[in-house]
Formats: sequence, structure tokens, C-alpha cells
Amino acid sequence: MPGKIVEGRTLNPSDDWTLMPDFCVVGSGAAGGVAALKLAEAGFDVIVVEEGPNIPKEQGHGGASHVRKMLNEREAEMYKLLYQEGATRLTKNGGVKVLQGRCLGGGTAVNWSACLPPRLETLDEWQKRGLPFTRQNLDPYLREVVNYLPIVRNDKYNTSARKFIEGCDHLGIPHDNLPNNTHNCRECGSCGVGCPYDRKMSGFVRWLPDAIAKGATVYTDTKVDKLVGTADRINEVRCRFLDGKNRPTGGTLVVKPKKGVVLAAGSVGTPGVLLRSNLDAGKRVGRWTHIHPVTITIGKYPEKTSPAYGVPDNMWTPKFAAGPTGYLVETGSFFPVLSASATLQHGEELHRIMRDYYPHGAISYAHHTTGFDDTQPYGTVALDDNGDPVLDYVIPKPNVKPMQESLVEMCRIHLAAGASSVYVMRNPPLEVRGEADFAEIRKISFAEPQRSTIFTVHVMGGCQMNKDNARRVVNNDFTFRDKKNLWVLDASIFPTALGANPQVTIYALALWGSEQICQQNNATFKLKHQQGGVWPWPGY
Ligand SMILES: Cc1cc2nc3c(=O)[nH]c(=O)nc-3n(C[C@H](O)[C@H](O)[C@H](O)COP(=O)(O)OP(=O)(O)OC[C@H]3O[C@@H](n4cnc5c(N)ncnc54)[C@H](O)[C@@H]3O)c2cc1C
Repeated sequence: MPGKIVEGRTLNPSDDWTLMPDFCVVGSGAAGGVAALKLAEAGFDVIVVEEGPNIPKEQGHGGASHVRKMLNEREAEMYKLLYQEGATRLTKNGGVKVLQGRCLGGGTAVNWSACLPPRLETLDEWQKRGLPFTRQNLDPYLREVVNYLPIVRNDKYNTSARKFIEGCDHLGIPHDNLPNNTHNCRECGSCGVGCPYDRKMSGFVRWLPDAIAKGATVYTDTKVDKLVGTADRINEVRCRFLDGKNRPTGGTLVVKPKKGVVLAAGSVGTPGVLLRSNLDAGKRVGRWTHIHPVTITIGKYPEKTSPAYGVPDNMWTPKFAAGPTGYLVETGSFFPVLSASATLQHGEELHRIMRDYYPHGAISYAHHTTGFDDTQPYGTVALDDNGDPVLDYVIPKPNVKPMQESLVEMCRIHLAAGASSVYVMRNPPLEVRGEADFAEIRKISFAEPQRSTIFTVHVMGGCQMNKDNARRVVNNDFTFRDKKNLWVLDASIFPTALGANPQVTIYALALWGSEQICQQNNATFKLKHQQGGVWPWPGY
């Protein structure tokens, strides 16, 4: 029998629920959606618990194809609704803006749809740390993701991508299509605030509806407070229902899973749940959390560019991607509210920048790999006074020069494409008009919070898989250290930064992890989409 979505906010606040499924999956994002589907397909009774809101399928205002009424494409409202802390999440010292989804589908609901496979160099590093994944043995899992979503080489380029191609061509920099998981994209540019047309193959369009069709039930507006158990098992998942303003309604849910718990609350959320449960694995949980710090440039062009429209992220250059501190330069959509908040200006100066750059802008940004340096502390997730997880993160020193250089290279590309100036998000503002201004970029230290904009949309690690006992939180079979019925499947298991947009890798590893869970519970796991699609990464 199909399952359903139960919205915690609609339940009677005085109700206390107890449920006894086979599995409780915590989080409905990239890893949670995969786990829900594969465990339900294997015949298990599955409950998914998601702290964010449901995104129901209902006819909206924008014609027949507008099928998610709630997603109204208004940035200011959607960030509040769909993101952790209303998209105001910062690292502890305020130095990095951390964007993470918090809704049905998690990050997949709001991400920019770019799909790259795991970087080979990173997989080699992970092998040195004892992880079992190789290019060869991941192949069937990657194929499954490619064919199931599907992933395509969508070559409808927005202005940012077209300007980038022009600039790269002038400079002889190779560039390539960046595959993504859109299907018949309407080019509204709203991926980052949730596609209202179901044209982005997010979790709430693919994995979760299929899981529900196989019997899984998803509880939204339901926050997991803690796990309770004995020395080697988890017996209860204790949750609270939340109202429309994310306040506890008073109602509670206790899940007593017969087989176990799958943690998929993301790289800040999963350590948060574990720490609240006093499961810190000997002070290892939350440690060595990685991000890809992002640097941003906006070029100003003579013509109006409508920079908020089009596929946000489908053009990049692999030129700078190699090495432990390599970076991926990609193009994006210039979302006005998000970008305005990143300018670090206010009042008249902010007004001027938006007036000048928004209608004439094109945007590019660089995701930085933060290396494989075991002497670096990277980030640490700990609990604040309210019991909420906070990421403490300082930019590693080896990344400072590459971050300056990514800004220089992106400025060069804009200028070669005809930009009259390039805005580098620094306070005081820096507008680059020629090579002479590059010296100013090379002075940015990225050390002082709120002096230069750094954001991240890729958080990884904090519960790493690693053969090194001093760092290992998750075993190679995805179980949590010494617990037999607790598995971690999300990006928190990464032992280092990935060096690629992570959703594809998270999906592939979550498939692998779901197979492990099925095997450990004597159930059949099947990959069902090994053929049919077009391989989107030639040469990989
Ligand atoms: C704006 C943006 C753009 C991005 N663009 C791209 C891109 O183009 N390509 C790409 O590959 N990646 C992109 N990403 C990153 C990608 O989406 C994430 O890396 C991925 O979704 C992480 O998967 P996950 O399973 O680890 O966690 P998530 O997808 O974050 O899912 C975790 C879920 O757990 C829920 N949760 C947390 N704590 C609790 C709790 N206590 N109780 C119940 N539920 C809880 C959260 O609400 C969330 O829904 C982007 C991310 C963002 C935010």
C-alpha cells in the first residue's frame, strides 16, 4: 500500500504519537530520499522524519505547468521557508554564509542542479584513508543516478554562461557544459528557490514520491531531538512537531524502529542529532567538517542581461580544478536578493551596486577544494546554548592564495568578455576595471569576517568514514562506530572535501549504503536503471 506525507504542523498539539516501523530515516534530502526509496523497495516499512515543511503538489498561479503552488519564486519568502535558518546561517564567527536546504527534499529542493561525478583525485585520497570506493566499483551506482534522475547535458545557456564562454574563448581557457538534472527546463531561473514546475529532478520530484508509492511515510515539520538506546543499539528516535514558524507545537513523535535508524540530516544536522544524543564517538563527531568556500564576481556589461533567468549552473571550466586546493569556476544565476545580501554594502552604496550591476550583470563563482591536509582543523560542529548545531570554520591558509587567484581569473574572463567593471564582493567595495586592479585582489586575506563575501553550498564531513581510528565515526559498512542498527548515509561521511559539486556523489554513496543496510538485514537490493540514459561525462 502507498504511504503518504503527514504534516506535523497540522496535527493536534496535544497528541503524542508512537510508531514502530522497520526503519526511521532522519532527513529527506539527497541521502534520505535514496534511503527511503531503496529500503521501501526492499519491502521494509519506512518512516522519514523531516524538520522542514512539505512542498505539496497543487496547481499554482502560473498556468497548468505551475504544480507547486507554495513555490512562488519570490526570493525573500522562499529563503525563509526552504532554507536552514531562513538562509541566514553563518559560521560561528560570521565569516562564511552557509546555505543548506530545510524542507521536503532538503538541499535537492533548492540546489542549482549541477551534476558532476566524484573527482578521481579525491577518490584516490579516500582510498588512502581506507574507504572502499573506486571509479570502477562506483560505476553501477553512478549509472543508476544518471539514468534514474536523469542527468543531461542541458545546453540552454543563460547570460552568465554566454559571457563566460566568450571570455574563456578570448583567453584560450577551455570550458565545458556542466550537466544537470533538469528536464524540459522552462529557464525561469528559480532552481535556488525551489522549481515550481517540477522540471528539476529534486528529491520531492523523484526519490520521495517513488518511496511513498512503495509504502514509505514522510513526516514533515518534525524535528528529531535525539536518539535513545543502549550500548550497541538505538531503540528510540524522539521528535517534536513544529508549527509554521518552526516553533514546537507541543506534540511529540517517538519512533521505535524494529530494524534501525538511518541518519541523513546533512553535514550540520547529523552531527547535531548525534551530539544532542550524547553520541560523540569520543569527541570525533562534528570534527573535520569541510566546506567548499566560494568566491564570487559579477561583471557589468553594456547591455541588459536579465541575469536571474536561465539554468543557473551549466557551464564551467575544468582548468583550475586539479590539485588539493584546486577550484571549479562555474557560472550561475544572479539572484538579486541573495546577491544583494552578499555585497556587504548597505544604504546608498548597495542601491548603486544593484542599480548598476543587477540589470547588466553576469555572475561567476569558484568552489574551492580545501585539500587533504590532516594537520588542518577544518571546521567543527558543536551545539549552541539552545542545543542547535553551529559550524565553527576558519579558511585554511593554503586556500588563501587560490581564493585570490580565482577572483583574478574570473575578473580576467569577465573583462575579456567585454565587462566594463567587475564587482568583487569586499568591504570596502572593490570594482575591477583592468589588470592594474588585480593587486588589490591579492591583498584580500579572507581572515576578517564580513570583509569579503565567502559562502558555501557544499558542507561535508563531521562523521567521517576513515580507517584511522582517531578520526573514524562511520565504518566502511556505513554503521556508526559501535552501533549495530545506526547507519549514516549523508555527506557527513566524507573524510575530505570532494572537489566537485556533491549531490551525485551523495546519491551514489547513499545507494551503496542502502545496499549495505539491505544485506545486513537479509533483504534484496536492486539497481534498476542501469541502461537507458546518455552518459553525461565524456571521458570519465
Ligand atoms: C543553494 C544550494 C545550491 C546547491 N547547488 C548544488 C549543485 O548545483 N550541485 C550539487 O551537486 N550540489 C549542490 N548543492 C549541494 C547539495 O544540494 C547538498 O550537498 C546535498 O543536498 C546534501 O545532501 P545531504 O543528504 O547530505 O543533506 P541535505 O540534502 O541537506 O538533507 C538534510 C535534511 O535533513 C533535515 N534535517 C536536519 N536536521 C534534522 C533534524 N534534527 N530532524 C529532522 N530533519 C532534519 C534538513 O531539513 C534537510 O532537509 C547546493 C546546495 C544549496 C543549498
